[in-house]
Amino acid sequence: MPTRPRPKLTLRTLLLAFALICAVATLANTFWVMFTTQRSELAENALQTNQAYAARIATSVEEVLSSELDRLGFASTLIGHAFADRTALHDEAHRLLNQDHSFNSVLIANARGKIIASAPSSLQLDGKALQRRSPLTRREPMISDAFKSLAGNLVVFVSHPVFSPDGEYLGLVGGSIRLEQKNTLQALMDLNIREDGAHVYLVDSHRQVLYHPDPRRIGTTLAADPIVDAALQQDHGSLRAKDGSGNEMLAGYASIPSSRWSVISQRPLSNIEATLKATTIKVAKGIVPLGLFGLLLIWWLGVKISVPLSRLAENAKRLDAPESYERILAVPADYVESWQIRRALLLGAALLQEKIGRLNQQAHSDPLTGLANRRAMEETMALWQQSLKTFAAIAVDIDHFKRVNDTYGHGAGDDTLRAVARLMRQVSRPDDMVCRVGGEEFLLLLPNGSIATGAEVAERLRAVIEAAQFDTVGHITISLGVAMWKAGEPMSAALERSDRMLYQAKAQGRNRVVTEPALTGVT
Ligand code: GH3
Ligand code: MG
Ligand code: MG
Repeated sequence: MPTRPRPKLTLRTLLLAFALICAVATLANTFWVMFTTQRSELAENALQTNQAYAARIATSVEEVLSSELDRLGFASTLIGHAFADRTALHDEAHRLLNQDHSFNSVLIANARGKIIASAPSSLQLDGKALQRRSPLTRREPMISDAFKSLAGNLVVFVSHPVFSPDGEYLGLVGGSIRLEQKNTLQALMDLNIREDGAHVYLVDSHRQVLYHPDPRRIGTTLAADPIVDAALQQDHGSLRAKDGSGNEMLAGYASIPSSRWSVISQRPLSNIEATLKATTIKVAKGIVPLGLFGLLLIWWLGVKISVPLSRLAENAKRLDAPESYERILAVPADYVESWQIRRALLLGAALLQEKIGRLNQQAHSDPLTGLANRRAMEETMALWQQSLKTFAAIAVDIDHFKRVNDTYGHGAGDDTLRAVARLMRQVSRPDDMVCRVGGEEFLLLLPNGSIATGAEVAERLRAVIEAAQFDTVGHITISLGVAMWKAGEPMSAALERSDRMLYQAKAQGRNRVVTEPALTGVT
């Protein structure tokens, strides 16, 4: 049978490798799915939150600006009634300035754009021309983009037209808000500073920053970037894009209708990834002990599965060993397959043992009579010799057996041999060894016997045979020689002497026992 090289992998290694790969793959998969799902959910959340946030702030800014316009609207009616009264205009400008300090300066201009009253007086604006002429031409409530004021400050200008009681356009009343110092808008925005890494800023329609958490950015003009573009083009929305500095941002925006400004709320993507990382570490800390426990459980199961199989495999190598049946029986078989393999091996071991026993029996017995053969006799004698067991040897030979064969045939001769063997067994004790050592020659070994017991047993056997009636053949006789093994001599010496005694019995006329002379001290 062609043989392949013995594999080096054991079932246990395979099971453990399998368990480990499964555990790592499942864990990695779980983490990956969790990571990607969380990331997209967090990003989606951030977009929605930013949009909602921008919308809320836009509404608040719109409310502030509307209330400023309302105030100016109310004042414009009063101013329309007293437009010619410079003192009244001056008083109204100061009242508006001091009313809630939302304006840094207030001015009233006539229809040609000349400032006719202003507050505070320290700015000395009276008599100067308005920088922005669009409120004069549009003659409607307006909120400007940012610009440098006459006093050199960055401002936005909120204005309302002034009409006379009969509807003639007289000019405007307006308040400026300085962007670079504390102002209403800033106070409002500062209230909404967020702690999740997001920030909010306010831009006008010319990309000028009106508010930013970093004051240095106020007044700067933003470069083109997709977020500001979207914010200035649409009412509201959200998008993920790079800002002017190249940082990936999740942004929401909303426009302020009265001013065409936009509020942008944005959160860096890296900020979300940091949150995600922290969550992942938390999850890992939760999963790892459970994962380790799972691995231990799998390892224990692996051992439980592999141990019976490896022990059965080990025993299968030595099915011929006498103790293999007991060893296989001792292997635990807690699951069906191991139980079936164990049963098959037990069956195999039993059959093999039985066959070995039978072969052993055949190798040690004489097929005709069933008595021990010469090989069995030699092995038993070797054992006795090791344990220094003494024995008496009785050599037996049937007298004139040739004649029996010649007269009654070989079959009758065989029957006679079997009958003689039976009688020899009956006469001897269980411990005695009865062998057929030749055609019609036998040997009876009596362990621990003496020459006297040897002679006695031999005589009893002789008498039994002489008295027996054999089928077909009738009566036969035997001759016997008795010798005793002497300590120190080879065992074969005792057998040779018993043979010599037998020879003497034949010579003396057969049907008799000849015993070697007893030595002094030997009974
Ligand atoms: P003696 O008294 O001198 O022993 O005479 P004997 O005829 O027995 O002489 P011997 O022992 O030389 O003869 C043995 C005979 O035993 C020879 C053979 O025919 C017979 N014999 C040997 N083996 C068998 C056997 O297996 N079966 C049968 N039927 N006969 C056997
Ligand atoms: Mg003979
Ligand atoms: Mg003979």
